[in-house]
Amino acid sequence: MSADGLPTAEERRTGADRRQGPRRQTDRAGALPSSDVLRDLRAILENATVGILFTRNRKLERANPVFVQMFGFAGDNYVGQPGRVLYPSDADYEAVGARAGPVLAAGQPFHADVQMRRQDGGVFWCRLSAKAVDPRQPQEGTIWIAEDITAWRAADRRLRQALTDQEMIFNNAAVGIMYVRERIVARANRKLEEIFGYGPGEMLGRSALDFHTSEASFRHLATLARETLWRGETFTTEWEARRKDGSTVWVRLTGHREADAGERFDVVWIFEDITERRRMQEELLQARAELEQRVLERTAELSTANAQLQDEIFERMQAEQRIWHIAHHDALTGLPNRALLHDRLQQALAQAQRNRGRLAVMFLDLDRFKVINDTLGHEVGDELLKEVALRVRAAVRASDTVARLGGDEFVVVLHDIEDANDAGRVAEKIVAAFVPPVKVGKHELRASTSIGIGLYPEDGDEAYALMKRADTAMYHAKRGGRNQFHFFSARMSAAAQRQFHIEHRLVAALEKGQFSLVFQPQVDLAARAVCGMEALVRWRDPDEGDISPAEFIPIAEETDLIQPIGEWVLLNAMRQNRRWQEAGRPLLPIAVNLSPRQFRHKDLVAGVRAILAETGQPARLLELELTETALAHDPDEACARLEELSAMGVRLSIDDFGTGYSSLVALKRFPVGKLKIDRSFVRDLCIDRNDAAIVAATIGLARGLELDIIAEGVETECQRDALLALGCQRFQGYLFAKPQPAENEAGIFMPEGLG
Ligand code: C2E
Ligand code: CA
Ligand code: CA
Repeated sequence: MSADGLPTAEERRTGADRRQGPRRQTDRAGALPSSDVLRDLRAILENATVGILFTRNRKLERANPVFVQMFGFAGDNYVGQPGRVLYPSDADYEAVGARAGPVLAAGQPFHADVQMRRQDGGVFWCRLSAKAVDPRQPQEGTIWIAEDITAWRAADRRLRQALTDQEMIFNNAAVGIMYVRERIVARANRKLEEIFGYGPGEMLGRSALDFHTSEASFRHLATLARETLWRGETFTTEWEARRKDGSTVWVRLTGHREADAGERFDVVWIFEDITERRRMQEELLQARAELEQRVLERTAELSTANAQLQDEIFERMQAEQRIWHIAHHDALTGLPNRALLHDRLQQALAQAQRNRGRLAVMFLDLDRFKVINDTLGHEVGDELLKEVALRVRAAVRASDTVARLGGDEFVVVLHDIEDANDAGRVAEKIVAAFVPPVKVGKHELRASTSIGIGLYPEDGDEAYALMKRADTAMYHAKRGGRNQFHFFSARMSAAAQRQFHIEHRLVAALEKGQFSLVFQPQVDLAARAVCGMEALVRWRDPDEGDISPAEFIPIAEETDLIQPIGEWVLLNAMRQNRRWQEAGRPLLPIAVNLSPRQFRHKDLVAGVRAILAETGQPARLLELELTETALAHDPDEACARLEELSAMGVRLSIDDFGTGYSSLVALKRFPVGKLKIDRSFVRDLCIDRNDAAIVAATIGLARGLELDIIAEGVETECQRDALLALGCQRFQGYLFAKPQPAENEAGIFMPEGLG
């Protein structure tokens, strides 16, 4: 406030004047300022928005209404009051005085924000401005302008506080904050520096580019952010930033453009270090991937295990099936075995009973299978059995059962037949199936079968009985000449019974002395003399009478009884020859039959040697008759054995020659000296040209091999003459002599027909 014109000398004269100031001024027009000026001045004072006070001699002189109101005076009662009343204390008053005095005295305006006191004792902040009217005499008058700044100060304090708070927040924020003005860092807080590895203040002034790993990264981010930010929206991204030392840090970036910046591109960026979070996230992802991998592996393991388990189950099922199959089937042919046959037959019978149906049980036995087995060996026999199984199987319906009981025994169950003729037709079919020869290796085998048939319900209604009946019928078929089938009948049963009966009685026959020997001479027509004899066994059972060796020898052979019987025959034949020798009879060799089983027995050679020694017989007076069957089984072994016997001097001959499978050439290697042409060839010699041809060939080849030859079973002169014509001069047969007991010496040593 300018000093000129306000407090005049006249005004300062009296308090009353001063009190009535404005009115009196108007009264004094002329020397005093014009009333217009006063009025204007007063209007200014009255309407001024600040408090205005005029003091003189440290006393309040005049104040405008704002001042009066500000300090809470009532009307004019402030006039004359000491300045001190405006201050809270003496000290405040003195302090302001001390500060203001020199300034005012220097003619300078004094400014201060000080605390002042209202009349009601309340203290408030006031901005004082003072100027001395006359600096040379300050006590003469000073003009004070007072503004109540309590509200302003409060606002100011609040503002400062806010700033402080902001600063504090800025500096202590857990996030990095960066103000970027036109791409240059204008502010960066502590945290930001920390994140980026800068020292205090080091980031300021830097280009935003400095915090990127590459310019490409910068451009990429800028492009991304710019549009969003210009729209006034918050931009957020995660970004790999470059630190001061070149290392990188993952940050979550949130940007906001300062709207007040006008056209400028000012952005506040908030940085959160998410390296740790990302690491954890990555670890989490990694862990998850590993977990997934493990789950996959485990799943794979499980599925493998599962597959293995299923395989195992499958294998076990297969194994069980195999075991079941093995337990119920014949290993060689794969046909059902006895156990399965029994099951099937029982089921079939039960069904037949329910349906009032019929069925047939067939018992099959191969003819002369033993011969094949013994002659050609088990391998060949096995092959034959397999082929037989196939042929039988092929001859019946799929629903029928073909089983192998073992050996060469088969059983066929015809599950559903109309009558006996059906079974007969099937049996015929099976017999016919055997007609084509079976090729096994180089052999062409001619197999045949004998079939016995039992029928349900005629022959029995129970499995065992039916099998038994079929078995009996089969034996009958065999007896009937093989290669045929027979239905069961009571008579057949008797034949089977006899078979069993014989076997049973044979066991005791030897001990009971039921055996005897007969001798049949062999004649040499060229020499017109007996050249030897064959010992043949006889069995007389006290109940059954004479039993033919043709009947019991095969049974003995099957049951191993042949061993002691054969030994008995050999011993007694040698004893008899010795007796004859002692009686002065001519020295003649005796031929003894040796069954294949006997020949194969390991003690044969030793046994023969012992008997010869015991009876004092020279080996040359013993001739052993062997069948081709006995030799063919294991030719090497047979050969060795024959060599041994031959070396001892024992004579060896082949019995029933022509019925076996050996060829003449094969015989050449055996040290045999004699062939016996089988009775069957001799029998039809006069009526069958084929037989004559076979005999002729046999004789011719025997000659070529330098073997002796003898014909057996010669019954007629026709046969004799035919043989003679073919070059055979030795004979054995009823034409000359029947086998006779030893006592009948004349019949043996001087047979008829020798002339
Ligand atoms: P085999 O070795 O071929 O014996 C000859 C058989 O023919 C004898 O029958 C004999 O009585 C018979 N026979 C002789 N001449 C004639 C004839 O002109 N016409 C007819 N139809 N038959 C004649 P047997 O004694 O009944 O013997 C039968 C078979 O029993 C023998 O055939 C032989 O294989 C075997 N056998 C006999 N005795 C023994 C023995 O002591 N040991 C061994 N292992 N087998 C024996
Ligand atoms: Ca014989
Ligand atoms: Ca014979």
